[in-house]
Amino acid sequence: MNIVIVGAGIGGLTLALMLERVGLAKDLRVYEAARELKPLGVGINMQPHAVQELDYLGLVPALRATSVEAKEFAFFTARGQHVYSEPCGLYAGYGVPHFSVHRGDLQQVLFDAVCERLGENAVVCGHRCAGVEQDADGSDVRFVDPAGLTLPTVRGDIVIAADGIHSAVRKQLYPNEGRPLFHGINMWRGVTRHPPFLTGASVTRIGGLNTTGKIVVYPVRNDVDGAGNQLINWNTEVVTDVASEVDWNGAGRLEDFMPIFEHWRYDWLDVAQLIRDTEFILSFPMVDRDPVDRYAFGRVALMGDAAHPMYPRGGNGGAQAIIDARAISDALLALPPVAALAEYDRIRVPFVSEIVRQNRTAPPDIIIDTVERLTGGARFENIADVIDPAELARMSLAYKQLVRSDLESVGTADAVKGSS
Ligand SMILES: Cc1cc2nc3c(=O)[nH]c(=O)nc-3n(C[C@H](O)[C@H](O)[C@H](O)COP(=O)(O)OP(=O)(O)OC[C@H]3O[C@@H](n4cnc5c(N)ncnc54)[C@H](O)[C@@H]3O)c2cc1C
Repeated sequence: MNIVIVGAGIGGLTLALMLERVGLAKDLRVYEAARELKPLGVGINMQPHAVQELDYLGLVPALRATSVEAKEFAFFTARGQHVYSEPCGLYAGYGVPHFSVHRGDLQQVLFDAVCERLGENAVVCGHRCAGVEQDADGSDVRFVDPAGLTLPTVRGDIVIAADGIHSAVRKQLYPNEGRPLFHGINMWRGVTRHPPFLTGASVTRIGGLNTTGKIVVYPVRNDVDGAGNQLINWNTEVVTDVASEVDWNGAGRLEDFMPIFEHWRYDWLDVAQLIRDTEFILSFPMVDRDPVDRYAFGRVALMGDAAHPMYPRGGNGGAQAIIDARAISDALLALPPVAALAEYDRIRVPFVSEIVRQNRTAPPDIIIDTVERLTGGARFENIADVIDPAELARMSLAYKQLVRSDLESVGTADAVKGSS
Protein backbone atom coordinates (compact mmCIF):
# COMPACT_ATOMS: atom_id res chain seq x y z
CA MET A 1 0.00 0.00 0.00
CA ASN A 2 1.28 3.43 -0.96
CA ILE A 3 0.81 5.81 1.99
CA VAL A 4 1.31 9.59 1.96
CA ILE A 5 1.62 11.37 5.31
CA VAL A 6 1.44 15.16 5.26
CA GLY A 7 3.39 16.80 8.13
CA ALA A 8 6.44 15.54 10.05
CA GLY A 9 5.34 16.72 13.48
CA ILE A 10 4.66 14.50 16.48
CA GLY A 11 1.67 12.76 14.89
CA GLY A 12 3.02 12.25 11.36
CA LEU A 13 6.36 10.82 12.48
CA THR A 14 4.70 8.52 15.02
CA LEU A 15 2.34 7.22 12.35
CA ALA A 16 5.27 6.40 10.05
CA LEU A 17 6.86 4.40 12.89
CA MET A 18 3.60 2.63 13.75
CA LEU A 19 3.14 1.56 10.13
CA GLU A 20 6.74 0.38 9.94
CA ARG A 21 6.19 -1.64 13.11
CA VAL A 22 3.36 -3.61 11.44
CA GLY A 23 5.03 -3.96 8.03
CA LEU A 24 2.96 -1.39 6.17
CA ALA A 25 5.66 1.19 5.49
CA LYS A 26 7.30 -0.28 2.38
CA ASP A 27 5.86 2.48 0.23
CA LEU A 28 5.46 5.39 2.61
CA ARG A 29 6.65 9.00 2.55
CA VAL A 30 6.19 11.85 5.01
CA TYR A 31 6.04 15.28 3.33
CA GLU A 32 6.95 18.25 5.52
CA ALA A 33 6.50 21.95 4.70
CA ALA A 34 9.60 23.14 6.58
CA ARG A 35 12.94 23.21 4.73
CA GLU A 36 14.43 21.16 7.58
CA LEU A 37 13.27 19.86 10.95
CA LYS A 38 14.50 22.09 13.76
CA PRO A 39 14.07 21.52 17.53
CA LEU A 40 11.20 23.99 17.91
CA GLY A 41 8.80 24.57 20.76
CA VAL A 42 9.24 24.24 24.50
CA GLY A 43 7.95 21.62 26.92
CA ILE A 44 5.42 18.87 26.40
CA ASN A 45 4.31 16.15 28.80
CA MET A 46 4.16 12.55 27.68
CA GLN A 47 1.99 10.73 30.18
CA PRO A 48 1.66 6.95 30.41
CA HIS A 49 -1.25 6.69 27.93
CA ALA A 50 1.06 8.20 25.27
CA VAL A 51 4.26 6.59 26.52
CA GLN A 52 2.75 3.11 26.30
CA GLU A 53 2.41 3.73 22.54
CA LEU A 54 5.99 5.02 22.31
CA ASP A 55 7.04 1.94 24.29
CA TYR A 56 5.31 -0.22 21.66
CA LEU A 57 7.68 1.50 19.21
CA GLY A 58 10.70 0.75 21.43
CA LEU A 59 11.41 4.43 22.04
CA VAL A 60 11.47 4.53 25.85
CA PRO A 61 15.29 4.28 26.17
CA ALA A 62 15.80 7.14 23.68
CA LEU A 63 13.23 9.26 25.46
CA ARG A 64 14.69 8.50 28.86
CA ALA A 65 18.08 9.75 27.63
CA THR A 66 16.71 13.11 26.59
CA SER A 67 13.91 13.99 29.00
CA VAL A 68 13.01 14.16 32.68
CA GLU A 69 11.14 11.24 34.16
CA ALA A 70 8.41 13.03 36.11
CA LYS A 71 7.73 11.96 39.69
CA GLU A 72 4.66 13.94 40.72
CA PHE A 73 1.94 16.40 39.80
CA ALA A 74 1.80 19.23 42.34
CA PHE A 75 -0.79 22.01 42.56
CA PHE A 76 -0.29 25.37 44.32
CA THR A 77 -2.24 28.58 44.77
CA ALA A 78 -0.92 31.89 43.39
CA ARG A 79 0.39 32.53 46.92
CA GLY A 80 2.53 29.41 46.61
CA GLN A 81 0.48 27.37 49.08
CA HIS A 82 0.40 23.67 48.46
CA VAL A 83 -3.04 22.38 47.47
CA TYR A 84 -2.60 18.83 46.23
CA SER A 85 0.06 16.38 44.99
CA GLU A 86 0.01 12.92 43.57
CA PRO A 87 2.72 10.67 42.11
CA CYS A 88 2.81 10.04 38.38
CA GLY A 89 4.28 7.57 35.90
CA LEU A 90 6.32 4.72 37.42
CA TYR A 91 6.04 6.46 40.80
CA ALA A 92 2.28 5.96 40.68
CA GLY A 93 2.62 2.29 39.78
CA TYR A 94 2.16 2.58 36.00
CA GLY A 95 3.98 0.11 33.79
CA VAL A 96 5.59 2.93 31.81
CA PRO A 97 7.10 6.29 32.81
CA HIS A 98 5.78 9.82 32.45
CA PHE A 99 8.30 11.92 30.49
CA SER A 100 8.49 15.72 30.62
CA VAL A 101 10.34 16.53 27.43
CA HIS A 102 11.29 19.39 25.14
CA ARG A 103 9.07 19.15 22.06
CA GLY A 104 12.17 19.49 19.86
CA ASP A 105 13.81 16.51 21.61
CA LEU A 106 10.67 14.41 21.24
CA GLN A 107 10.44 15.24 17.54
CA GLN A 108 14.16 14.44 17.12
CA VAL A 109 13.76 11.03 18.81
CA LEU A 110 10.90 10.24 16.42
CA PHE A 111 12.75 11.61 13.38
CA ASP A 112 15.95 9.65 14.18
CA ALA A 113 13.91 6.46 14.51
CA VAL A 114 12.14 7.12 11.20
CA CYS A 115 15.50 7.67 9.43
CA GLU A 116 16.95 4.52 10.97
CA ARG A 117 13.96 2.26 10.33
CA LEU A 118 12.45 3.65 7.12
CA GLY A 119 15.55 5.24 5.59
CA GLU A 120 16.92 8.76 5.21
CA ASN A 121 14.52 9.53 2.34
CA ALA A 122 11.31 8.68 4.18
CA VAL A 123 10.83 12.30 5.26
CA VAL A 124 10.76 14.77 2.38
CA CYS A 125 11.16 18.38 3.54
CA GLY A 126 10.32 21.57 1.63
CA HIS A 127 6.94 20.16 0.52
CA ARG A 128 3.96 22.21 1.63
CA CYS A 129 0.67 20.48 0.86
CA ALA A 130 -1.58 22.75 -1.21
CA GLY A 131 -4.54 20.41 -1.64
CA VAL A 132 -5.68 16.85 -2.18
CA GLU A 133 -8.01 15.16 -4.70
CA GLN A 134 -9.23 11.58 -4.77
CA ASP A 135 -10.87 9.08 -7.12
CA ALA A 136 -11.95 5.47 -6.75
CA ASP A 137 -8.37 4.13 -6.79
CA GLY A 138 -6.23 6.67 -5.00
CA SER A 139 -5.53 10.20 -3.98
CA ASP A 140 -3.35 12.97 -5.45
CA VAL A 141 -1.59 15.45 -3.22
CA ARG A 142 -0.46 18.80 -4.60
CA PHE A 143 2.63 20.44 -3.12
CA VAL A 144 4.48 23.73 -3.34
CA ASP A 145 8.06 24.45 -2.30
CA PRO A 146 9.02 27.09 0.34
CA ALA A 147 9.03 29.76 -2.40
CA GLY A 148 5.48 28.80 -3.41
CA LEU A 149 6.49 27.11 -6.67
CA THR A 150 4.50 24.07 -7.74
CA LEU A 151 6.15 20.67 -7.15
CA PRO A 152 5.18 17.37 -8.83
CA THR A 153 1.91 15.87 -7.56
CA VAL A 154 2.27 12.76 -5.38
CA ARG A 155 -0.23 9.89 -5.58
CA GLY A 156 -1.05 7.53 -2.73
CA ASP A 157 -3.57 4.81 -1.98
CA ILE A 158 -4.36 6.83 1.13
CA VAL A 159 -3.35 10.23 2.47
CA ILE A 160 -3.12 11.06 6.17
CA ALA A 161 -3.04 14.76 6.97
CA ALA A 162 -0.95 15.37 10.09
CA ASP A 163 -0.31 18.99 9.17
CA GLY A 164 -1.16 20.60 12.48
CA ILE A 165 -3.38 23.44 13.62
CA HIS A 166 -3.22 25.28 10.27
CA SER A 167 -3.89 22.09 8.29
CA ALA A 168 -4.29 22.78 4.55
CA VAL A 169 -6.22 19.52 4.13
CA ARG A 170 -8.67 20.38 6.90
CA LYS A 171 -9.20 23.80 5.32
CA GLN A 172 -10.17 22.04 2.11
CA LEU A 173 -12.48 19.57 3.86
CA TYR A 174 -14.06 22.22 6.11
CA PRO A 175 -13.86 25.35 3.92
CA ASN A 176 -16.17 27.53 6.03
CA GLU A 177 -14.49 26.98 9.37
CA GLY A 178 -12.41 30.15 9.58
CA ARG A 179 -9.63 30.83 12.06
CA PRO A 180 -8.92 28.81 15.25
CA LEU A 181 -11.18 29.92 18.11
CA PHE A 182 -9.87 32.32 20.74
CA HIS A 183 -11.79 32.60 24.01
CA GLY A 184 -9.78 35.28 25.80
CA ILE A 185 -6.71 33.49 27.20
CA ASN A 186 -3.17 34.07 25.97
CA MET A 187 -0.05 32.05 26.83
CA TRP A 188 3.53 33.21 27.22
CA ARG A 189 6.11 30.41 27.37
CA GLY A 190 9.83 29.88 27.73
CA VAL A 191 12.66 27.75 29.14
CA THR A 192 15.18 28.72 31.82
CA ARG A 193 18.37 27.09 33.11
CA HIS A 194 17.76 26.66 36.82
CA PRO A 195 18.65 24.33 39.69
CA PRO A 196 16.17 21.50 40.36
CA PHE A 197 13.20 22.49 42.57
CA LEU A 198 10.86 20.36 44.73
CA THR A 199 11.53 16.70 43.76
CA GLY A 200 13.62 17.74 40.75
CA ALA A 201 10.96 16.09 38.59
CA SER A 202 7.71 17.80 39.64
CA VAL A 203 5.08 18.93 37.15
CA THR A 204 3.67 21.97 38.96
CA ARG A 205 0.58 24.03 38.26
CA ILE A 206 0.38 27.33 40.14
CA GLY A 207 -2.51 29.81 40.39
CA GLY A 208 -6.06 29.89 39.10
CA LEU A 209 -7.40 31.71 36.07
CA ASN A 210 -10.50 33.08 37.78
CA THR A 211 -8.48 34.99 40.40
CA THR A 212 -5.07 35.76 38.90
CA GLY A 213 -3.31 34.03 36.08
CA LYS A 214 -1.58 30.72 36.18
CA ILE A 215 1.69 29.09 35.30
CA VAL A 216 2.76 25.52 34.67
CA VAL A 217 6.41 24.80 35.53
CA TYR A 218 8.40 21.60 35.02
CA PRO A 219 11.92 20.50 34.06
CA VAL A 220 12.46 19.02 30.57
CA ARG A 221 16.23 18.35 30.47
CA ASN A 222 18.57 17.27 33.27
CA ASP A 223 22.04 18.65 33.95
CA VAL A 224 22.26 20.96 30.94
CA ASP A 225 25.59 22.51 31.98
CA GLY A 226 27.54 19.89 33.96
CA ALA A 227 26.68 21.84 37.13
CA GLY A 228 23.38 20.06 37.74
CA ASN A 229 21.10 22.78 36.38
CA GLN A 230 18.00 21.70 34.50
CA LEU A 231 16.15 23.26 31.60
CA ILE A 232 12.88 24.34 33.20
CA ASN A 233 9.82 24.83 31.03
CA TRP A 234 7.30 27.48 32.07
CA ASN A 235 3.99 28.35 30.45
CA THR A 236 1.62 31.07 31.65
CA GLU A 237 -2.08 31.51 31.01
CA VAL A 238 -3.49 35.02 31.30
CA VAL A 239 -7.01 36.28 30.67
CA THR A 240 -6.83 39.00 28.02
CA ASP A 241 -8.74 40.25 25.00
CA VAL A 242 -5.53 40.53 23.01
CA ALA A 243 -4.59 37.34 21.18
CA SER A 244 -1.13 36.64 19.77
CA GLU A 245 -0.72 35.29 16.25
CA VAL A 246 -1.44 31.56 16.03
CA ASP A 247 2.24 30.86 15.40
CA TRP A 248 4.10 28.34 17.55
CA ASN A 249 7.31 30.33 17.02
CA GLY A 250 5.83 33.78 17.71
CA ALA A 251 7.93 35.95 20.06
CA GLY A 252 6.40 37.43 23.23
CA ARG A 253 7.22 40.49 25.37
CA LEU A 254 7.89 40.34 29.11
CA GLU A 255 5.99 43.54 29.84
CA ASP A 256 2.74 42.09 28.45
CA PHE A 257 2.36 39.54 31.26
CA MET A 258 5.10 40.04 33.88
CA PRO A 259 3.09 42.38 36.17
CA ILE A 260 0.86 39.44 37.12
CA PHE A 261 3.78 37.23 38.16
CA GLU A 262 6.13 39.85 39.64
CA HIS A 263 5.30 38.89 43.25
CA TRP A 264 5.19 35.13 42.76
CA ARG A 265 8.28 34.42 44.88
CA TYR A 266 7.99 31.36 47.13
CA ASP A 267 10.44 29.61 49.41
CA TRP A 268 10.33 26.59 47.06
CA LEU A 269 10.58 28.51 43.74
CA ASP A 270 11.09 32.14 42.67
CA VAL A 271 8.68 32.17 39.74
CA ALA A 272 9.32 35.83 38.87
CA GLN A 273 13.07 35.26 38.64
CA LEU A 274 12.58 32.06 36.65
CA ILE A 275 10.63 34.04 34.05
CA ARG A 276 13.13 36.92 34.04
CA ASP A 277 16.04 34.50 33.47
CA THR A 278 14.38 32.84 30.49
CA GLU A 279 16.31 32.13 27.30
CA PHE A 280 13.48 33.55 25.13
CA ILE A 281 9.76 34.25 25.35
CA LEU A 282 7.19 32.73 23.03
CA SER A 283 3.58 33.85 22.82
CA PHE A 284 0.67 31.76 21.59
CA PRO A 285 -3.06 32.18 22.07
CA MET A 286 -5.08 29.49 23.82
CA VAL A 287 -7.00 28.34 20.74
CA ASP A 288 -8.84 25.26 19.56
CA ARG A 289 -11.61 24.44 17.12
CA ASP A 290 -15.08 23.07 17.68
CA PRO A 291 -15.06 19.28 17.32
CA VAL A 292 -15.98 18.01 13.85
CA ASP A 293 -18.02 14.90 13.15
CA ARG A 294 -15.63 13.35 10.61
CA TYR A 295 -11.88 12.79 10.40
CA ALA A 296 -12.02 10.33 7.47
CA PHE A 297 -13.22 11.15 3.95
CA GLY A 298 -12.75 8.08 1.77
CA ARG A 299 -9.01 7.78 1.12
CA VAL A 300 -8.09 10.92 3.04
CA ALA A 301 -8.06 11.31 6.83
CA LEU A 302 -7.07 13.96 9.36
CA MET A 303 -5.09 13.19 12.52
CA GLY A 304 -3.55 15.06 15.47
CA ASP A 305 -4.05 18.82 15.58
CA ALA A 306 -5.37 18.75 12.02
CA ALA A 307 -8.26 16.62 13.28
CA HIS A 308 -8.79 17.90 16.83
CA PRO A 309 -6.82 20.99 17.86
CA MET A 310 -7.35 21.39 21.59
CA TYR A 311 -6.30 23.63 24.45
CA PRO A 312 -2.80 22.47 25.44
CA ARG A 313 -3.91 21.54 28.93
CA GLY A 314 -3.68 18.15 30.57
CA GLY A 315 -0.94 16.99 28.16
CA ASN A 316 -3.29 15.69 25.49
CA GLY A 317 -2.45 17.63 22.31
CA GLY A 318 0.57 15.46 21.65
CA ALA A 319 -0.78 12.34 23.38
CA GLN A 320 -3.93 12.13 21.29
CA ALA A 321 -1.93 12.60 18.06
CA ILE A 322 0.20 9.61 19.10
CA ILE A 323 -2.86 7.54 19.98
CA ASP A 324 -4.45 8.47 16.60
CA ALA A 325 -1.36 7.00 14.95
CA ARG A 326 -1.83 3.70 16.76
CA ALA A 327 -5.54 3.62 15.89
CA ILE A 328 -4.85 4.24 12.17
CA SER A 329 -2.11 1.61 12.08
CA ASP A 330 -4.24 -1.02 13.87
CA ALA A 331 -7.14 -0.36 11.51
CA LEU A 332 -4.98 -0.55 8.37
CA LEU A 333 -3.58 -3.85 9.54
CA ALA A 334 -7.07 -5.32 9.89
CA LEU A 335 -9.09 -3.77 7.05
CA PRO A 336 -8.84 -2.52 3.44
CA PRO A 337 -7.76 1.15 3.24
CA VAL A 338 -11.09 2.99 2.97
CA ALA A 339 -12.78 0.76 5.55
CA ALA A 340 -9.78 1.18 7.85
CA LEU A 341 -9.95 4.96 7.80
CA ALA A 342 -13.70 4.77 8.43
CA GLU A 343 -13.01 2.53 11.42
CA TYR A 344 -10.38 4.95 12.77
CA ASP A 345 -12.96 7.72 12.42
CA ARG A 346 -15.64 5.70 14.21
CA ILE A 347 -13.37 4.95 17.18
CA ARG A 348 -11.67 8.31 17.58
CA VAL A 349 -14.14 11.10 16.74
CA PRO A 350 -16.53 10.84 19.72
CA PHE A 351 -13.75 10.07 22.19
CA VAL A 352 -11.39 12.91 21.27
CA SER A 353 -14.22 15.42 20.79
CA GLU A 354 -15.05 14.98 24.46
CA ILE A 355 -11.44 15.77 25.42
CA VAL A 356 -11.52 18.95 23.29
CA ARG A 357 -14.63 20.08 25.18
CA GLN A 358 -13.30 19.08 28.59
CA ASN A 359 -10.00 20.92 28.05
CA ARG A 360 -11.98 24.15 27.72
CA THR A 361 -13.91 23.81 30.95
CA ALA A 362 -12.48 21.20 33.30
CA PRO A 363 -8.82 20.29 32.71
CA PRO A 364 -6.78 19.14 35.76
CA ASP A 365 -6.20 22.83 36.58
CA ILE A 366 -9.77 22.91 37.88
CA ILE A 367 -8.26 21.70 41.18
CA ILE A 368 -6.63 25.09 41.81
CA ASP A 369 -9.52 27.07 40.33
CA THR A 370 -11.85 25.37 42.80
CA VAL A 371 -9.65 26.13 45.80
CA GLU A 372 -9.04 29.75 44.72
CA ARG A 373 -12.79 30.20 44.26
CA LEU A 374 -13.54 28.80 47.73
CA THR A 375 -10.88 30.95 49.44
CA GLY A 376 -11.30 34.04 47.23
CA GLY A 377 -7.53 33.84 46.76
CA ALA A 378 -6.85 34.27 50.50
CA ARG A 379 -4.35 32.20 52.49
CA PHE A 380 -5.58 29.14 54.36
CA GLU A 381 -4.20 27.34 57.38
CA ASN A 382 -4.99 23.84 56.25
CA ILE A 383 -6.27 22.70 52.86
CA ALA A 384 -8.65 20.28 54.60
CA ASP A 385 -10.46 23.33 56.07
CA VAL A 386 -11.12 24.52 52.50
CA ILE A 387 -12.04 21.28 50.75
CA ASP A 388 -11.84 17.57 51.43
CA PRO A 389 -8.53 16.41 49.81
CA ALA A 390 -10.38 13.30 48.63
CA GLU A 391 -12.51 15.61 46.48
CA LEU A 392 -9.33 16.99 44.85
CA ALA A 393 -8.14 13.45 44.16
CA ARG A 394 -11.51 12.68 42.63
CA MET A 395 -11.21 15.69 40.26
CA SER A 396 -7.79 14.53 39.15
CA LEU A 397 -9.01 10.99 38.58
CA ALA A 398 -12.07 12.17 36.63
CA TYR A 399 -9.89 13.89 34.01
CA LYS A 400 -7.56 10.90 33.77
CA GLN A 401 -10.49 8.54 33.31
CA LEU A 402 -11.92 10.74 30.57
CA VAL A 403 -8.67 10.72 28.58
CA ARG A 404 -7.90 7.11 29.63
CA SER A 405 -4.60 7.99 31.25
CA ASP A 406 -5.67 6.47 34.58
CA LEU A 407 -3.88 3.47 36.05
CA GLU A 408 -6.69 1.09 35.22
CA SER A 409 -6.80 2.09 31.54
CA VAL A 410 -3.03 2.11 30.96
CA GLY A 411 -1.99 -0.76 33.22
CA THR A 412 0.28 -1.24 36.19
CA ALA A 413 3.88 -2.40 36.16
CA ASP A 414 2.66 -5.92 37.03
CA ALA A 415 0.12 -5.90 34.20
CA VAL A 416 2.76 -4.81 31.68
CA LYS A 417 5.14 -7.54 32.87
CA GLY A 418 2.31 -10.06 32.71
CA SER A 419 1.47 -9.21 29.10
CA SER A 420 5.01 -9.37 27.76
C1 LIG B 1 6.94 24.59 15.58
C2 LIG B 1 5.99 23.96 16.59
C3 LIG B 1 6.22 24.18 17.96
C4 LIG B 1 5.34 23.64 18.89
N1 LIG B 1 5.60 23.85 20.22
C5 LIG B 1 4.82 23.25 21.14
C6 LIG B 1 5.11 23.38 22.53
O1 LIG B 1 6.06 24.04 22.91
N2 LIG B 1 4.32 22.74 23.44
C7 LIG B 1 3.23 22.02 23.02
O2 LIG B 1 2.53 21.45 23.86
N3 LIG B 1 2.93 21.88 21.72
C8 LIG B 1 3.69 22.47 20.76
N4 LIG B 1 3.39 22.33 19.44
C9 LIG B 1 2.18 21.60 19.06
C10 LIG B 1 2.27 20.12 19.29
O3 LIG B 1 3.39 19.58 18.61
C11 LIG B 1 0.98 19.52 18.77
O4 LIG B 1 -0.11 20.12 19.45
C12 LIG B 1 0.83 18.05 19.04
O5 LIG B 1 2.04 17.42 19.26
C13 LIG B 1 0.07 17.36 17.91
O6 LIG B 1 0.99 17.03 16.87
P1 LIG B 1 0.66 17.14 15.34
O7 LIG B 1 1.62 16.21 14.67
O8 LIG B 1 -0.77 16.97 15.08
O9 LIG B 1 1.02 18.64 14.97
P2 LIG B 1 2.41 19.36 14.94
O10 LIG B 1 3.36 18.75 15.90
O11 LIG B 1 2.10 20.78 15.02
O12 LIG B 1 2.99 19.01 13.47
C14 LIG B 1 2.46 19.47 12.26
C15 LIG B 1 3.54 19.40 11.20
O13 LIG B 1 2.99 19.65 9.93
C16 LIG B 1 3.79 20.58 9.23
N5 LIG B 1 2.91 21.26 8.27
C17 LIG B 1 2.03 22.28 8.51
N6 LIG B 1 1.36 22.58 7.40
C18 LIG B 1 1.83 21.77 6.42
C19 LIG B 1 1.50 21.59 5.05
N7 LIG B 1 0.54 22.32 4.45
N8 LIG B 1 2.17 20.65 4.33
C20 LIG B 1 3.13 19.87 4.94
N9 LIG B 1 3.46 19.99 6.22
C21 LIG B 1 2.81 20.92 6.97
C22 LIG B 1 4.35 21.46 10.33
O14 LIG B 1 5.52 22.14 9.90
C23 LIG B 1 4.63 20.44 11.43
O15 LIG B 1 5.89 19.85 11.28
C24 LIG B 1 4.21 22.88 18.47
C25 LIG B 1 3.98 22.66 17.10
C26 LIG B 1 4.87 23.20 16.16
C27 LIG B 1 4.62 22.96 14.67
